[in-house]
Amino acid sequence: MTPHDVLIIGSGPAGLTAAIYAARANLNPLVIEGEISSTSDQPGGQLMLTTEVENFPGFEHGVQGPELMTTMRAQAARFGAEFVTAKATRVDLSDRPFGVWIENDEYRAKGLIVSTGARSLMLGLEEERRLIGHGVSTCATCDGFFFRGQEIAVVGGGDSALEEATFLTKFASKVTLVHRRDQLRASKIMQDRARANPKIEFAWNKRVVNLNGTDNLQGAVLEDTITGEQSDLDVTGLFVAIGHVPNTDLFKGQLALDDQGYIVTGPGTRTDVDGVFACGDVQDHTYRQAITAAGSGCMAAIDVERWLEAHH
Ligand code: NAP
Repeated sequence: MTPHDVLIIGSGPAGLTAAIYAARANLNPLVIEGEISSTSDQPGGQLMLTTEVENFPGFEHGVQGPELMTTMRAQAARFGAEFVTAKATRVDLSDRPFGVWIENDEYRAKGLIVSTGARSLMLGLEEERRLIGHGVSTCATCDGFFFRGQEIAVVGGGDSALEEATFLTKFASKVTLVHRRDQLRASKIMQDRARANPKIEFAWNKRVVNLNGTDNLQGAVLEDTITGEQSDLDVTGLFVAIGHVPNTDLFKGQLALDDQGYIVTGPGTRTDVDGVFACGDVQDHTYRQAITAAGSGCMAAIDVERWLEAHH
């Protein structure tokens, strides 16, 4: 079997940008892009679950997330990147060329770029899937702007939730922080900042059990975790900030992961296995933006190209 020069696992902004750069460097990348699912680890990644993206440079009037990803994919294909629409099920990074499997189909590659992304933890409500991008969001930086002057809620009690709640008070008239306990997990400084913010109210010991609205979110139903009593929360936006998980199951025991399961990289996009590079949210729990993922995808393609030049 002739090995591919570069194989890319994952097709969000990081993977597709890596594919564009690798293809233009004549490395004929093969992208294992994932398969259609309702979670963010699908082809195109988390942007497939958003609507308007207004902060990706180059789009003065914004662009729909799925359209942005479809265009990036077409751009990579134009330069010769090839795609397999399936999920990788196994990798062997101890062997050279590296082995990647989709069930029983085996692929070999001299250089590997991992861009499998991360996914937001969700509440698991049926309505949540339907209303994501229509009032329900997992990214305050991306979507806060759409809720100017509106009453919204943030779910969670960690640093992410408090950071998002504080950020969202720039736009919203009121932010209700819904937390399932009466004590926050967030750091003291975040807590102090949120508690001092007059626009933030706390709904303690509450969990969201239902979402109202057909086309757009029109309210949430809360349940008291102690009494079981239900109440309506009149909001047009609900930000779920209960944590993220990187899509790294495939690499456990083969690549160095940090204590939260993200791939450890550096210098640049190098992992601890020579010839394997990682980019995008799978190695970044700080920035998590499409543009930073795309930037690191470009870095990974340049890193793999230089590595191939030196080793092959
Ligand atoms: P986290 O610390 O794991 O907090 C998740 C929060 O969501 C917890 O309060 C948890 O409640 C709640 N939660 C989990 N599952 C839930 C469910 N099904 N329904 C309702 N609530 C649920 O996650 P994070 O806030 O994303 O932070 C992750 C890491 O990144 C942390 O180490 C954090 O310090 C760091 N971070 C740092 C910053 C910063 O320093 N600027 C910003 C963001 C994140 P319980 O408390 O009851 O478990």
